[in-house]
Amino acid sequence: MKTKERKKILIVGAGFSGAVIARELAEAGKYQITVIDSRDHIAGNCYDTTCSQTGNKFHKYGPHIFHTNNARIFDYLSQFTEWTPYKHEVQGSVEHIGDVPIPVNIDTVNMLYGKKIHSEKEYIDFLESIRTHHERPENSWEHLTNIYGEKISELFFSRYTKKMWGLDLKNLPISIVSRIPVRTNKERGYFNDSHQYMPKLGYTHLFTNMLTHENIDIHLNTQFDKSMETEYSYVFNAMPIDVYFDHEFGELPYRSIIFDHRIGEQFEHQVPTINFTDNKKYTRKTNWDLYPGCGGGHTNLITYEIPCDYKENNFQRYYPVKTIDGEPQKIYSKYKKLAKAREDKMIFIGRCGQYIYYDMHQVVANSLNIVKQYSSCL
Ligand code: UDP
Repeated sequence: MKTKERKKILIVGAGFSGAVIARELAEAGKYQITVIDSRDHIAGNCYDTTCSQTGNKFHKYGPHIFHTNNARIFDYLSQFTEWTPYKHEVQGSVEHIGDVPIPVNIDTVNMLYGKKIHSEKEYIDFLESIRTHHERPENSWEHLTNIYGEKISELFFSRYTKKMWGLDLKNLPISIVSRIPVRTNKERGYFNDSHQYMPKLGYTHLFTNMLTHENIDIHLNTQFDKSMETEYSYVFNAMPIDVYFDHEFGELPYRSIIFDHRIGEQFEHQVPTINFTDNKKYTRKTNWDLYPGCGGGHTNLITYEIPCDYKENNFQRYYPVKTIDGEPQKIYSKYKKLAKAREDKMIFIGRCGQYIYYDMHQVVANSLNIVKQYSSCL
């Protein structure tokens, strides 16, 4: 089909949500796709690049480890990258004790309580003796204390969560802390998924392969403007939904992270990422030398993460904030209703468009579904 006969599609955002849709439509052969992004690079928050001072590859917006149980999504992305198997490990830095495994496991409890537990049965019995019973936990505090009791919940989750979300565990939905597996053995991996990998040549390389297609044009440093809508038959929009609707129902809350990259700092830990259990401003630090494909720098590159409200970080929205009292969700559902009425012309996608704390594999799966579902509107 000639270019001018193809329907023009606009995709706002060159992260996973937009890139998958762009590629799928490009392959269909009936569309001419324009992808715009306000940043000066593709790959959204997965963007990785080489540090000019140390030579390390690093993830500009914090460590991204690809993990999924969905073989279909892994196979889909394998068209665009080779992979390096990678089992991610994290430790928590605990004052007066040192580094202990996270997720909490038998070793964590032994170090914390000065115990010598070996078997799963002994461990479960011990947790039973320290946990606080909640028949039907309704928030993260009840969920965690129901498993670990107050000391562990306070040390590993309360303070981190306060820094990360600015919220008390009692106002945090269980789905957020239950991202972290519960262990009853000495397993040290951070994830449970069947597929755990890093793209061999990095995420930016993966996105470059995905977006390199004769039917896709990319315009970086380009802000979305409503006047663009008239030029296209359909828009897939990853911008924040509340911004699109001019905050008509108020602002949706988001958390952001300030990344403090430090060159040459010592890192005397066994694993690439350390979570801080104190109440200082940092949640974690990462040594890029210990990530596959990111090492080989001539001096250390360490990234510290400082969570904050998105307005304190140049309006960079990373995490949609959902709460037990449901206030943000109520605001979002009003925007969703407005968006629904426009779905013959535009659909919102991705973390900021759909106000969902997606992992990478989830956003890829969602975009593949959207293409299937909305092809008839195009
Ligand atoms: N969390 C915590 N302590 C930790 C790790 C995680 O309290 O050491 C809680 C915190 O609320 C966090 C959530 O669990 O936001 C999910 O953690 P995850 O590591 O999945 O967050 P992400 O990597 O997406 O920032």
